[in-house]
Amino acid sequence: MAKIVVVDLELCFGCGTCRSLCPKVFGLEGDPRKCLVKDPSGDPSDPECVEFAMSMCPTEAITWQKS
Ligand code: SF4
Repeated sequence: MAKIVVVDLELCFGCGTCRSLCPKVFGLEGDPRKCLVKDPSGDPSDPECVEFAMSMCPTEAITWQKS
């Protein structure tokens, strides 16, 4: 079963760490800024970066979910 990247926007406060670590998957949008998942399937050229962003998110807002 495929899995997708999901961000809990109630937890996200727009720090931008995920975008810095994995810019093909994460962006920022809105006012106040919140994470935007640009590619829920992850980044095939850098599969570790989503995991790293998950581990570094200060509010643990990023998770994998089964699609
Ligand atoms: S690292 Fe976490 S809190 Fe920061 S923008 Fe990304 S999802 Fe939001």
